Amino acid sequence: MNRQWQLARRPEAEPTVDDFRLVSLDIPEPREAGEVLVRNRLLSLDPYMRWRMNDAKSYARPVGIGEVMVGATVGEIVRSNDPSFVPGDLVLAGGGWQDYAVVRSEALRKIDAAAASETAYLGVLGGPGFTAYAGLMKIGEPRPGETVVVGAATGPVGSLVVQLAKAAGCRAVAIAGGAEKCRLAVEKFGADAAVDHRDPDLAAKLAIACPRGIDVYFENIGGRVLDAVIPLLNPFARVPVCGLISQYNGLEQRSDATPLAQLMQDTLVKRLLVRGFIVTDYNAYRDEFLALVAPKVKSGAIVSLEDVVEGLANAPSAFLGLLKGLNKGKLIIRID
Ligand code: NDP
Repeated sequence: MNRQWQLARRPEAEPTVDDFRLVSLDIPEPREAGEVLVRNRLLSLDPYMRWRMNDAKSYARPVGIGEVMVGATVGEIVRSNDPSFVPGDLVLAGGGWQDYAVVRSEALRKIDAAAASETAYLGVLGGPGFTAYAGLMKIGEPRPGETVVVGAATGPVGSLVVQLAKAAGCRAVAIAGGAEKCRLAVEKFGADAAVDHRDPDLAAKLAIACPRGIDVYFENIGGRVLDAVIPLLNPFARVPVCGLISQYNGLEQRSDATPLAQLMQDTLVKRLLVRGFIVTDYNAYRDEFLALVAPKVKSGAIVSLEDVVEGLANAPSAFLGLLKGLNKGKLIIRID
């Protein structure tokens, strides 16, 4: 049978486990030419999934009620109607929250298990790692001596931003939730300073951590962190707008638009470039990214933190924990 987590209903604000439903279905069959059956081994859980639970217009279609939750997976080909994929091949797929998926072969990437761990292809060498690379290097354009600030700094995106910023000769300032994650940001990922976003004196602490202002703010969070960052932005600062996780549950939506108005004014006066991006816009750079980062992951020059939870049954509770910051590093479900 194919165990599958479906979206049962749309959450109003913070999701609960009752928003998901586990069903058991027949294992699907690949019928058309170019279709393959993949047995999912690892499932990536990511913040964007919260957005997909809303029935809102966005860059991607929402998950429908009764549909399988979407997600990147590492899996093994079981049956194939494409001669370039044979049973046993390991692939990166969008297999979703389930044991098996039938997918089109053109949507698959073979993975080299000798080059890096399978989990790395969902984290530091997967979508999150590439997001960090594309946003920082192609929009942030860090230069030696500049200050780079990033939130969710111990997660798969933020932790690579910190390390790439250091490699580019920058001062890297991490924003993270709690003392332990701040320590990790400095000791494991090499940030020059780390600030706890829950600190009531966040703005003052961030100013101390950034004595020469901020040249690149890699936006992962929004809300009060953005409010603290805006006054510190230097002229010609770049703000890759990657994510706004503090607002995904709609908890911090304000009726006054003062911070945004301030940002718009600063954008004009300081000629800031604030640009949203979706990682797939940079697909042309994916091979360049892998060529640069994969050998450093293998040699240990770039490290990653992975939080592997056992069992597909635990996917909803692990995902809800991610939205609360309970994950430490790239959250992955080991399905078996
Ligand atoms: P993580 O695995 O780091 O998980 C999210 C982290 O966000 C939590 O661990 C928590 O860390 C932090 N967080 C949660 N709520 C809040 C809050 N209210 N205020 C401040 N921090 C909060 O996530 P990823 O590294 O996978 O993703 C990081 C960001 O990148 C997200 O915003 C995501 O949406 C975005 N993204 C965008 C992509 C794009 O194409 N534009 C692609 C991939 C990711 P802590 O405890 O430190 O606060």
